[in-house]
Formats: sequence, structure tokens, C-alpha cells
Amino acid sequence: MREITYLSCGDCKRKNYVTRKDKRKTPEKLSIKKFCRFCGKHTQHKETK
Ligand SMILES: [Zn+2]
Repeated sequence: MREITYLSCGDCKRKNYVTRKDKRKTPEKLSIKKFCRFCGKHTQHKETK
């Protein structure tokens, strides 16, 4: 069971990345530092649906 999840910027809330994750392996919410092209810097990205 792999679900498509979106990673949204913590600053501007835009969905910048699409990823797939296994809900059984990683049931917790993802939080990854990635580059946001709207903010022009690295920000913390959180999982959204
Ligand atoms: Zn941003």
C-alpha cells in the first residue's frame, strides 16, 4: 500500500514535491528540509494530502 503524499513548504504552504510513501513503514508525518523555489531557500517541508 503506497500512497501519494505532497510535501508542502512550512513558510509559504505551497506543495512543492510529490512523493510516495509506505504507510505501514512510516506511519508518522514526514518533515524534510528541502529547497522551496517560491521562498528561494531551504525550508522545512511537511507532509500534506
Ligand atoms: Zn516556500
